[in-house]
Amino acid sequence: MSAQKVQYQAKGVSLKLVGWLISIFAVVISGILIFSMVYISQKNEEVNTSTKNYITMKSAANDVKLASDDLTNNVRLFVATAEKEYLDSYFKEAKETKRRDNALVVIHELTEDSPIHETVHTAITAAVEESNGLMQLEYYAMKLTCLDNPSINYEKYEEIVNCTDADSVAPENRHTEALNAVFSDDYMDSKNNIIINVDKAIDVIDELMANNIAKSEQNLRDLIVFQSIIIAVNIAFMAGLIILMHVYIVNPMNSAVKSLSNNEEVRIKSNKEFNYLASVYNRVHKANEDIKESLKYEAEHDKLTSLYNRTGYDRVYKSMPLDNVIYILLDIDNFKEVNDTLGHEIGDKVLVRTANTIKKYFDDENSYIFRIGGDEFAIIVTNQNDEISDDIVEKCKKMDDEISRAQGNIPGTTLSIGIAHGTIRDTTDTLFRKADAALYKIKKAGRAGVSIYK
Ligand code: GH3
Ligand code: MG
Repeated sequence: MSAQKVQYQAKGVSLKLVGWLISIFAVVISGILIFSMVYISQKNEEVNTSTKNYITMKSAANDVKLASDDLTNNVRLFVATAEKEYLDSYFKEAKETKRRDNALVVIHELTEDSPIHETVHTAITAAVEESNGLMQLEYYAMKLTCLDNPSINYEKYEEIVNCTDADSVAPENRHTEALNAVFSDDYMDSKNNIIINVDKAIDVIDELMANNIAKSEQNLRDLIVFQSIIIAVNIAFMAGLIILMHVYIVNPMNSAVKSLSNNEEVRIKSNKEFNYLASVYNRVHKANEDIKESLKYEAEHDKLTSLYNRTGYDRVYKSMPLDNVIYILLDIDNFKEVNDTLGHEIGDKVLVRTANTIKKYFDDENSYIFRIGGDEFAIIVTNQNDEISDDIVEKCKKMDDEISRAQGNIPGTTLSIGIAHGTIRDTTDTLFRKADAALYKIKKAGRAGVSIYK
């Protein structure tokens, strides 16, 4: 045997769907956060690189100026003092250190993909070429000094050896001519050109850097705004989640637990799954209550007559206040004879007819009817006055009269009826005894009649 699947369509927001949406949202937000973190670090890296490049380019541009000044200083000092160390120092810069050539390479590389390449490269190239141009004048001045000082060995500097212009200068003019060459206005003009070109390149580099800083500041501001939005969305999301959790889970759960502990139906309007569970529980609960109700009915009612049986009598009678109630006790006369002569079935019919007749006369909401024994019935009428009304006595007589006449195959039987009035001092027992005493009295007097307890 396989369990039958319960087909039921519950209304409401689906928790499963909400779960999926929350997961998707969480993944998207996490993705955006990770992306923005990577983006920030990339931007940061770019700013770092461009700052480093800026420093390198600026220092390379400055090197051109510094190297040119170094050459100038060394040539001037050599011409003025004729000390060879200045000559060596000059060629060390020109041939080994080569700061100007290196600067050209560095600037070429770093500006290659940049919009400032053209301007900066042209300016630095012009400065280096200007400086190279000055070197011809400087070789000339240095050659004059060397010729003037035969002790100086300059054989290894072929630029000086090859500078033959100086050879024709008269020895007495050599020193003056050398000084004139490196202190002349033309020389100074060239030096100025170098400075102008280097400064021009530095200005362009500075401008680019300023633009980069402005751009990276803007990027940072944009990112802060973006991240603030993401954080705000996240906070709103968390708040929404908390509200949703209370509206759709915590509150319905509490309310359901309360209903369950009170053994009541669960009345919640929540998510689809909860609504489904609640509806299933409610159906089981109702079926259970119905079974309990019908078991209780069956336990307290007589199958044959549908009146309250002894169990029902015990519960109902014992729970009612006894002052101002009328207790009527009925017993069918010579009932055993009916059973004995006409059979048990006819006996049953007599019992049913008697019960129905009682119901007919006492059908108001103040009256409770019980079958308390085999052929013995009790009627309890509540909310009565101090005395037993004629109306009640009249009803009893009419019942007796009605039953005494045969009906189809049901024989007529008489009833013995005892009536007692309950007082504040009565117990269920004493009141019953009073009615029973009245009944006994009528039985003893020959049956078929009504007796009131006095
Ligand atoms: P009395 O006038 O003194 O009351 O005499 P009685 O014959 O009625 O005597 P009693 O009240 O003691 O008899 C009750 C009888 O009712 C005894 C029993 O066999 C019968 N009886 C009890 N329950 C049922 C029932 O459910 N169906 C039928 N047919 N008879 C029942
Ligand atoms: Mg009897």
